[in-house]
Amino acid sequence: MALIVQKFGGSSVANATRVMHVAQTITDTYKAGNDVVVVVSAQGDTTDDLIEKANEINPKGSKREMDMLLTAGEQISIALLAMAIEKIGCPVVSLLGWQAGFHTDRAYGAARIESIKPERLQSELDKRKIVIVAGFQGINKADDLTTLGRGGSDTSAVALAAALHADLCQIYTDVTGVYTADPRKVSNAKKLTDITYDEMLELATLGAQVLNNRSVEMAKKYNVEIEVLSSMVKEPGTIVREVAKMEKMLIRGVTKDTDIARISVVGMKDVPGNAFKLFSSLAAKNINIDVILQSVGRDGTKDISFTCARANAEQAQELLEDLFSDEGAVVSSDTTVAKVSIVGAGMQSHSGTASKMFGALYEAGINIGMISTSEITVSVLIPKEDADKAVAAVHRAFFG
Ligand code: ADP
Ligand code: ASP
Ligand code: MG
Repeated sequence: MALIVQKFGGSSVANATRVMHVAQTITDTYKAGNDVVVVVSAQGDTTDDLIEKANEINPKGSKREMDMLLTAGEQISIALLAMAIEKIGCPVVSLLGWQAGFHTDRAYGAARIESIKPERLQSELDKRKIVIVAGFQGINKADDLTTLGRGGSDTSAVALAAALHADLCQIYTDVTGVYTADPRKVSNAKKLTDITYDEMLELATLGAQVLNNRSVEMAKKYNVEIEVLSSMVKEPGTIVREVAKMEKMLIRGVTKDTDIARISVVGMKDVPGNAFKLFSSLAAKNINIDVILQSVGRDGTKDISFTCARANAEQAQELLEDLFSDEGAVVSSDTTVAKVSIVGAGMQSHSGTASKMFGALYEAGINIGMISTSEITVSVLIPKEDADKAVAAVHRAFFG
């Protein structure tokens, strides 16, 4: 007998038929003699719809109230899924995040799990019940509900698998695994048999939404093996683990991120400490920055450009205007850009990977704005309107 954590995303439980189908998968696993803990997301587009409702009333509503609202989506789906399992005739109980022991920090909207106290959950398992847990939510020290950030149910599942020392953590979704590019956008994308934590973390961070990046971070930290598979099509998925077969692949995948902005500070003083001042002020506001470019100083001034999440662009621009307009610098924000990246540990031992990517973009007539590299990634900034074309061209260059 094994302890299995299964997570089902929003599209997998979007309507009554799908909820019944998922209930069947869960009860089959249970009837095979396993203990089953299920994490489930809000149905279909529920979370987006709730955000829209909030915006109709007050687009500047507090993050606390936003979390109070958004946690409702998952409350609906756990109850419906539990009822579906009752109908099949298996013992089941649904639990909200706090009932399952998810304690987080105070950061509403982007809370981090601080601890999981699974006593209640464990006692339900001991009674041989299937336990359905609301994903994406927890409770903080003020006894307020919090959410973990968009796509956070993946993190709930991995965290539970770690806390319960589960034998397996299955992430069921609407594609059959992790592919070399988004299979909905690139028709000849190839499914990966397995992939390392480090590669998956980069893919997720650089735009492959199939797994939330924090969930991969957590899986690596606690050595939780993840299987990403389809809730509709029965076939083996992709395993995410520490070591993966290389399958002679130079790169593992091509991603795009269109949810970014480029912020430029032009004409700041070329003196020691200005870059520190700029980036530390952003860090203090928890604004993550990515690709950075600094110009060579001229006439005592220099320019710094960087990218951040589009949602942070306005705040970043205001912050930097406060800091640098006195010295004559001009701050601008551009949301018409996208980042296209390649990821793969294979490129460490091969030269020419970056140039192959740049060549593919050149042949597709796409201009590169900024470039950044790490050991296992190369990212370029390009016009947003070219993003899909760029992914297709780069994918073709590496995978034919
Ligand atoms: P869920 O609702 O199950 O959490 P998501 O929508 O968050 O599902 O993630 C699944 C989606 O991720 C797929 O429908 C697919 O379009 C997208 N995706 C993007 N990049 C990739 C990739 N490299 N491999 C697989 N899916 C990807
Ligand atoms: N329902 C949340 C969202 O849409 C969490 C999740 O799906 O993982 O972001
Ligand atoms: Mg998701």
